[in-house]
Amino acid sequence: TPTDTLLEVNNIEVIYNHVILVLKGVSLSVPRGGITALLGGNGAGKTTTLKAISNLLHSERGEVTKGKIEYHGKPIQNLSPEALVKRGVVQVMEGRHCFEHLSVEENLMTGAYTRTDGAANIKADLEMVYSYFPRLRERRKSQAGFTSGGEQQMCAIGRALMSRPETILLDEPSMGIAPQLVEEIFTIVKNLNENEGVSFLLAEQNTNVALRYAHHGYILESGRVVMEGPAAELRENPDVKEFYLGMS
Ligand code: ATP
Repeated sequence: TPTDTLLEVNNIEVIYNHVILVLKGVSLSVPRGGITALLGGNGAGKTTTLKAISNLLHSERGEVTKGKIEYHGKPIQNLSPEALVKRGVVQVMEGRHCFEHLSVEENLMTGAYTRTDGAANIKADLEMVYSYFPRLRERRKSQAGFTSGGEQQMCAIGRALMSRPETILLDEPSMGIAPQLVEEIFTIVKNLNENEGVSFLLAEQNTNVALRYAHHGYILESGRVVMEGPAAELRENPDVKEFYLGMS
């Protein structure tokens, strides 16, 4: 059923460098088949939350000191990124992260590295990615470092798709991208959600665009969830309008 919970984050606390308390008890859940937005201003803790889920805090000297993170009801806090990808969760990091010296297509193929289901299936998924991102097909031979910011963001999402994920953690897809491309990217996210059944947890500072495409939203302020609800309700909430949508 659509209310199935995939990811459950329960009251997590994250501390950097043993002293800096950044997440102060964050809880959220990601249902199967949904687009869930994690909203909030600069420094609210969105990236930290995604990195806590995908176990990427160690290199930043951060650690989860309290709380639980479960996927399909099983703890995932000690899984390597590879093990997490095998469970169906993949993160697209903020700032695109393509391999600049590889072609677009080579970048996409690196996303399939954990797969053991054969070249034919991988080829079919490459076609699937190109069908959602026609721009990537056009640019497939181009060196990724010479494509536009929006195309690199698409390439990063496409690469994530090549692992056949059940859930994509997408960090700040609108960052540094022209408004028209932002709409294009969010439209593709919506199509992937509806047609391929991929669930998304999407960190975004651009509340306006995120709440138009997401089903449910959480608003973080200084490491705490201060509001949550269906996207349609958040869009109409007076406080959200005043503080996050820039109108009252
Ligand atoms: P942004 O949109 O800027 O990425 P965010 O909501 O994703 O914002 P985080 O990047 O999670 O916020 O940062 C939350 C807080 O944690 C900020 O105050 C930031 O300065 C702090 N922080 C992030 N990384 C570290 C680190 N490695 N060491 C210490 N503090 C950090």
